[in-house]
Amino acid sequence: MECIFCRILAGEIPSQEVMSDEDFIAIRDINPKAPVHVLIVPRQHITDMNELAASEPALAGRLFQAVGRVAAKEGIAQSGYRVIVNCGPDGGQEVAHLHLHLLGGRPIGPMVSQP
Ligand code: AMP
Ligand code: ZN
Repeated sequence: MECIFCRILAGEIPSQEVMSDEDFIAIRDINPKAPVHVLIVPRQHITDMNELAASEPALAGRLFQAVGRVAAKEGIAQSGYRVIVNCGPDGGQEVAHLHLHLLGGRPIGPMVSQP
């Protein structure tokens, strides 16, 4: 198995799990960019946002519900947070298994760099 997140889901690579249910696991990013940096990873190997939208639109709603649950558990629901989904080369996606980044615990700053 090549996919690093599928290997984490299979228990072949250790991770720091924050929460999970039948649809997803939430794990701490190995290279955190903020005090809270959690990745919400669907159990199903879905490559990216394009495939989610085309094949599993109902799962998209459940993943956003997961964001709210993880944010509450991490204590950042009121202070706020940012959710990022990178897609493809221009989006800077490095791992080709869909994941939502949940970032918080400090002001996250400008949304993107200037063109
Ligand atoms: P992206 O650029 O959106 O594909 O983000 C991939 C993210 O996965 C990066 O923030 C990495 O730090 C993170 N990452 C890579 N390998 C691991 C791992 N084994 N456990 C947790 N996070 C990881
Ligand atoms: Zn995968």
